Amino acid sequence: MLIDLHAHSNVSDGTETPAQLVGAAAAAGLDVVALTDHDQTSGWGEAAAAARRIGIGLVPGMEISCKAGRGLSVHLLSYLHDPTNEDLLEEINKARDARIHRARRMVELIAEDYPITWDLVGEQSAPGATLGRPHIADALVAAGVVSDRSEAFATVLTSHSRYYVGHYAVDPIRAVELVRAAGGVPVFAHPMAEMRGRVVAPAVFDDMIDAGLLGVEIAHRDNSVSGREFLGSLARRHGLIVTGSSDYHGVGKPNRLGENTTEPAMLERILEAGTGSAPVAIGNL
Ligand code: AMP
Ligand code: FE
Ligand code: FE
Ligand code: ZN
Repeated sequence: MLIDLHAHSNVSDGTETPAQLVGAAAAAGLDVVALTDHDQTSGWGEAAAAARRIGIGLVPGMEISCKAGRGLSVHLLSYLHDPTNEDLLEEINKARDARIHRARRMVELIAEDYPITWDLVGEQSAPGATLGRPHIADALVAAGVVSDRSEAFATVLTSHSRYYVGHYAVDPIRAVELVRAAGGVPVFAHPMAEMRGRVVAPAVFDDMIDAGLLGVEIAHRDNSVSGREFLGSLARRHGLIVTGSSDYHGVGKPNRLGENTTEPAMLERILEAGTGSAPVAIGNL
């Protein structure tokens, strides 16, 4: 069983439609894939139809933008929550809206030095997509400033750059509570991605666990080696679900589908705990 529980479509910052992503997952030999676009679930229907047609398992999910403390960006995966839950919707809608204003401001600043425009960014994103730096990166590629997203993130778009602007996002402890209240399964995404920047303090993990966090994503290319050890012992101490995933973004990132996978027993626990929506076409684990 090959199970990959973290992948993006062009509903956020992936480069494939939800149906194409599901097709790519089947072609990569996966048995189960989760669609986890940033801050929205509008790809679920298309992905579910594709999964039924192709005969691959689908776990509906989402990756919630969160902000810990004053400005530390962290991501919380949610599986199988009720996509119509109003309290959760209110928060993700606020984040998506804040992302638009923030992207506009970043484009204004970048346009002082590089030949990009808001329209060019618009051309890089599907209508209604959750806007992020990856779309600005694609505009920089289209303008010939950089050769790919990786180069854009290493230069113009790093969080240390003078063009960087933050945006509103929910506190991760509150996000955990909202996901649980919506019948979802909260799993902390790439919690020890130390190469991306600062990570949260151990006390924040404890608070998130107290709030109802159910799992941690350990096998993810951005987690440091020492960070994985920390997460492993945290998971053992607290009986957390442990996942491994690719964080696939189509051609937007080097991450390949199935490069990290999740044990069937762990998916079983997610399916048992998630009561807000239904998985699609998952056979015997
Ligand atoms: P944002 O949430 O708009 O600040 O942008 C962060 C998003 O950019 C994350 O969801 C990542 O998927 C993506 N990202 C971060 N680093 C890179 C990178 N080096 N190359 C491509 N995409 C990246
Ligand atoms: Fe992303
Ligand atoms: Fe993430
Ligand atoms: Zn992701």
